[in-house]
Amino acid sequence: MTTQPIFLIGARGCGKTTVGQKLAEACQCAFIDTDLILQQRAKKTIADIVAKEGWPAFRALETRTLQSVAAPDSIIATGGGIILAPVNREFLRENGIVIYLKAPVSVLAGRLEAFPEASQRPTLTGKPISEEVREILTQRDALYRETAHHVVDAACEPDEVVAQIQRALAAAHTSVQPLKSATAG
Ligand code: ADP
Ligand code: MG
Repeated sequence: MTTQPIFLIGARGCGKTTVGQKLAEACQCAFIDTDLILQQRAKKTIADIVAKEGWPAFRALETRTLQSVAAPDSIIATGGGIILAPVNREFLRENGIVIYLKAPVSVLAGRLEAFPEASQRPTLTGKPISEEVREILTQRDALYRETAHHVVDAACEPDEVVAQIQRALAAAHTSVQPLKSATAG
């Protein structure tokens, strides 16, 4: 039996990487992080790519990365801006189960201030973190919601977020359906 990939979406700091790793362990699935794969393939950090080639170049790489990593039996943590491109939103919805890890600005800003990881998270607006998070979430929340099949509360502890996702998947009986054409590579 083939299981569709699970895509985790949400703003920086919502826990896509942290929760994704735990969920993969719990489901005995592979864990894939598009930001990490992209950086490994480019042999550069996201900050370097953006500084040298600009955000549009990074976004193009992100789309290629997403399409190449989607595979059955995997949990895929995506970059916070992946939902900006309509082609990515369509790909996510059609090729897997999409989970939005939703958390309020105060929670996201608190985590990012504690663990900035600037090489992976170059500033998007040049503004202080909490201001940037508020602005970005205002722009993107509707896109995260329209792309997601399920929304979970990502402000609680990682294990609880994992449990919410497992309950959502079980309730929806999400299991089969192989990937459509745009998979491998
Ligand atoms: P993302 O991949 O969505 O940007 P990360 O998983 O890298 O987010 O998490 C950002 C920071 O917040 C990390 O330092 C992580 O340990 C912490 N974190 C993530 N999820 C939670 C959570 N549910 N509760 C508390 N801290 C968390
Ligand atoms: Mg991450």
